[in-house]
Amino acid sequence: MNVIAGYMSLDEVRAMDATDPMASFRSHYHIPQHDGKDAVYLCGNSLGLQPKKTRQYIEEELKDWETLGVEGHMHGRHPWFYYHHFLEESVARLAGASPLEVVIMNTLTVNLNLLMVSFYRPTKSRYKILMEYMAFPSDQYAMEMQVRYHGFDTADAIVEVKPREGEHALRTEDILQLIDEHRNELALVMMGGVNYYTGQLYDMATITKAAHDAGALAGFDLAHAAGNVPLHLHDWGVDFACWCTYKYLNSGPGGASGVFIHERHAHDATLPRFAGWWGNAEDTRFQMKKGFHPQPGAAGWQQSNAQILPMAAHRAAMELFDQAGMDALRTKSLALTGLLEELLQIQPGKFHIITPADPAQRGCQLSILTGAGGRQLFDRLTASGVIADWREPNVIRVAPVPMYNSFEDVYRFAELMYQD
Ligand SMILES: *Cc1c(COP(=O)(O)O)cnc(C)c1O
Repeated sequence: MNVIAGYMSLDEVRAMDATDPMASFRSHYHIPQHDGKDAVYLCGNSLGLQPKKTRQYIEEELKDWETLGVEGHMHGRHPWFYYHHFLEESVARLAGASPLEVVIMNTLTVNLNLLMVSFYRPTKSRYKILMEYMAFPSDQYAMEMQVRYHGFDTADAIVEVKPREGEHALRTEDILQLIDEHRNELALVMMGGVNYYTGQLYDMATITKAAHDAGALAGFDLAHAAGNVPLHLHDWGVDFACWCTYKYLNSGPGGASGVFIHERHAHDATLPRFAGWWGNAEDTRFQMKKGFHPQPGAAGWQQSNAQILPMAAHRAAMELFDQAGMDALRTKSLALTGLLEELLQIQPGKFHIITPADPAQRGCQLSILTGAGGRQLFDRLTASGVIADWREPNVIRVAPVPMYNSFEDVYRFAELMYQD
């Protein structure tokens, strides 16, 4: 008998789905098919699934464009001129922020670089950026070129927090110690909220406080945190953050990015920034006059007119987050990932999970370190209808997302993992 079936029956798992208060949300999504059945989709950390409403929301904008042309800016169902406002309430809820503190614009790496204009202002003596070791490549490239742009040397200006020998996750105490060691030269702490590779959730409140105590600012790339874990960016005192919306936020490939800028910077006219007409005050935006007057808050960082089609997709996705609520999603997420971990540990030592075992230090993703034959295992999973993700050099990432994954998905995945 299969190891899994001897441990827990499919009926038991189906009973978990039957009593799951969040189970009905799955029906709001298109689930990719494999051999005429729902695939086991565990890749929401890379590209979230499509809400069934998305098509309608985009088609409404196409219709307004078709029938109104340019008049859609003012007379569309959701006038394009004000489009970012239709998202600010739900995005603020998701980020733990006020509507003033958030905006949807551009794409993630573009925003990361833009925010550096305002929040990485190195001086001769205070110029270092502290990052996590093995940050997502785009973040590494962006930071590397930012320090070089300001005339600093990468090896000196970028300080990386590394895991201890034989460990994969970072210890908060090590992060704090490194901040302290560089306290006189540190300009910025710039980390992921959840690391894309290990799945570790960092203690953003504690890290932010330490950065501030050292006289530095704190920014976070929340690509793997937004829609995955509850966020309280305002209360944590985070200076700025940005995230993409196509991973856990299900808003489609190349989707628009979210930005958070803390209220304390909302009205600071001395902050340098790059500007464009969309960041200007709305009542004078079309007067085409000289002199930039930013809108207060994050909206004042906008450059170009709103990306209506991706933002329509984001509206459809955010409605489901509003209905579900991040706290309820987190409760289910803990159970779902907890079950995955439990099933992978039936045979102790068979699978090596590098994501922290403490649920408070992770989101929904587990990263499984494979040995020789890892790639073959991954290919076999794929052939059997699992959509997960392989990260070089040797990690399989699986993300059971509470919005649309079921306990049965987790069970079917685990069954395949034990098959020889
Ligand atoms: C996914 C991801 C990105 C991708 O950036 P894009 O600009 O949206 O292509 C960047 N950083 C992190 C940490 C990511 O996880």
